[in-house]
Amino acid sequence: MRESSSTYASRIRRFRLPRLCIAVVGADAPTIVERAESLIRDNPFLELRLDYLSQPLAMLPKLKALLEMHPEATFIATCRRAVNGGKFKGSVAAELAVLCKAADCGFALVDLELQSAEALKADEFRDLSDRVGLILSYHNFRSTRKLDEQFGVMSKYPADFYKLVATATSLHDNVVMMKFLEANSGRHEMVGLCMGEQGIISRVLGVRAGSIFTFGAASKGEETAPGQVLASELRDVYRIEMVDQATQVYGVVGDPLSHSLSPVMMNAAFRRETVNAVYLALHAKSLKDLLACVQQIPIRGLSVTMPYKQEIVGALQNSDPLTRQIGACNTVVRGADGKLYGFNTDVAGVVVPLEQRMSLAGVRVLIVGAGGVARAAAFGLKARGAEVFITNRTPQKGQALARQAKAKYMKRADVAKQQFDVIINATPVGMNGGKQSPLEEKELNTRFVFDLVYNPAETKLVKMARAKNLQVIPGLEMFVQQGARQFEIWTGKPAPIAEMAYVVTKALERQAAEETAEEQKAPARKAVTKKATKKSAKPARKK
Ligand code: NAP
Repeated sequence: MRESSSTYASRIRRFRLPRLCIAVVGADAPTIVERAESLIRDNPFLELRLDYLSQPLAMLPKLKALLEMHPEATFIATCRRAVNGGKFKGSVAAELAVLCKAADCGFALVDLELQSAEALKADEFRDLSDRVGLILSYHNFRSTRKLDEQFGVMSKYPADFYKLVATATSLHDNVVMMKFLEANSGRHEMVGLCMGEQGIISRVLGVRAGSIFTFGAASKGEETAPGQVLASELRDVYRIEMVDQATQVYGVVGDPLSHSLSPVMMNAAFRRETVNAVYLALHAKSLKDLLACVQQIPIRGLSVTMPYKQEIVGALQNSDPLTRQIGACNTVVRGADGKLYGFNTDVAGVVVPLEQRMSLAGVRVLIVGAGGVARAAAFGLKARGAEVFITNRTPQKGQALARQAKAKYMKRADVAKQQFDVIINATPVGMNGGKQSPLEEKELNTRFVFDLVYNPAETKLVKMARAKNLQVIPGLEMFVQQGARQFEIWTGKPAPIAEMAYVVTKALERQAAEETAEEQKAPARKAVTKKATKKSAKPARKK
């Protein structure tokens, strides 16, 4: 039995599989064929989810033509049963029939769940593995526990690939998965990843730890597992095909993180400067979870964002004097000795765009806000000789910052009476659709408005400033400058600033277009729901 199945293994190994397999779903064969045809040119490794078909056995002959048309591609047939998290309602025997027929139709690989393998008779299992390359898979939809124990059971069955998919409930679960892959991938052909939003990094770093390939979704809405990342993102942003054991790992840590554009910007910078590094979104729900990860995944550097900028200072072994003065750190370097060193590049993010436009000595700057970024701005601008004023929703916090940074506190009521050179918005007001402004039009007595909110690009404050013919500095400039400094600290190379600004601008434009499309769909959806509610509200006519 072992020999015959290893025939497939050697055949499959000989043609090195791509790192990225895309799951293709559809309710009928023509839909799957159409989706596969649209993807295959860029993605010659596809998993066809036969369990999504209403009648997989009957529809297989229609898929055969697709396979024959594309001998260059590798296809996996999966018909996961509903009890194992798939959509197939049939018995194990029916699943076996589908997979055997798939083998006869030309699929190179079939995916069989461990529970199904356990239910098959030995000769049934042998018959399947003699026909086709076999991925023996196991899914845990709750946790990332007992991987070794589970693999002990799996490895009793000869298979070409062993696929273990767990669910991450913390960042550290990714470490567990990677250590498991590192320990076993020398002896077996392994595929491993963690599902869930917390498991996203394992979808990239798994291949670094020895997973032969990983899975990506064809498009938004076509994900076949929680936390599945778009294939285009894995390929274009994370450069999954390039990730290897020498790839350095960086990331942004925060909670929440879903809309962060840092991965888009920093991965583009690494690509442009041909640095073998990948930059990930590390969604940590606690600093403890993050620190446990940092010690075990060889992370070289971190961008730190809300809510950890202040908390992380206590975990650093050393930091530069300005970071200590500000009491907030947005950049961490992990030294070869494992120690964490902190920097604050938010200062450069605020100061550089201003210095590109003016000499800061003696200019009057009003900072609205007294949080982490306002602190960086206040200390940074004072160090350049600016006259700094602070106003804040909670006056005590604003007054405390003014005292510490040797700036002046200004009551909100006094803002409209004063003249400034620059007004900086260092509050989140303007995010979430950009419909609110931290200041009123009459308070904008200034030459420049620097709105640190960069998403959306056109906030209400920015629009008001433009309407008054004031000069606007977009928050994007801060975002790019603080990222550029991080890149320089981590790599020692000058940052490709134009490239970084370009990719972030494009990403913001895409997001804005998607949001507009959603908004346009919303009234139509409302109208349909209203109509349906009206209809169902009508008393049913007696027949
Ligand atoms: P933070 O530490 O949470 O501080 C937020 C500040 O905004 C506090 O002073 C808070 O006032 C004030 N604030 C919050 N909600 C407000 C409201 N509804 N009305 C008036 N004031 C309000 O946040 P942070 O880290 O300093 O970041 C602030 C903003 O800067 C972020 O939201 C982000 O948009 C922007 N930012 C931009 C970049 C960039 O690269 N462009 C980088 C980082 C941050 P209280 O003291 O009264 O709570």
